[in-house]
Amino acid sequence: MEKLQQKITEEGVALSDTVLKVDNFLNHQIDPTLMYEVAQEFIKRFENKTITKIVTLESSGIAPAVMVGLILNVPVLFARKKKSLTLTDGLITSKVYSFTKQETNEISIAEKFLSTDDQILIVDDFLANGQATLALIDIVEKVNATVAGIGIVIEKAFQDGGKMIHDKGYQLESLARIKSLKNKTIEFVSEEEF
Ligand code: 5GP
Repeated sequence: MEKLQQKITEEGVALSDTVLKVDNFLNHQIDPTLMYEVAQEFIKRFENKTITKIVTLESSGIAPAVMVGLILNVPVLFARKKKSLTLTDGLITSKVYSFTKQETNEISIAEKFLSTDDQILIVDDFLANGQATLALIDIVEKVNATVAGIGIVIEKAFQDGGKMIHDKGYQLESLARIKSLKNKTIEFVSEEEF
């Protein structure tokens, strides 16, 4: 997605060879117009699918996910990273291992918000090693709902997540694919390499 790539080039910061900071428009301050356009692009790419609900992970997945939900007029459900005081029973959980923090955390969704008839579009801000996405897939499949597809705003294609999700047979659509962050330079996977 051309406009997203341009935004990443202009405002993204390669903090290291592996970490991209995009807090100007996605991870802290949010650009709603760009998020709306991101959502339109997801909808175009998944137009062959029936989608009854969007599932994401708090907090940075929520902005693009809500825009998709708004356009499709379907609910948006976010997995929580911390246990809620009011939400304790009937939780479906899955473990997420973070390679960067080298720790395992549990994410959860209330079972009552998912049903076996649901066709879920998973939306998240980043795809790196794929652990967060796999945990969301795991939760959806634990209730026998269907994963219709996975929409990612920024995929770091030099990490393993994309290949892993593809190999499992899911339709994965990443709107910007980063080839490298070496030498503080943000390089994208070109259209031909897609
Ligand atoms: P994964 O589980 O695919 O390794 O990592 C996905 C999650 O880690 C994303 O939801 C995102 O919150 C975070 N993440 C991974 N890499 C980056 C990065 O380079 N920049 C930012 N801002 N977040 C990242």
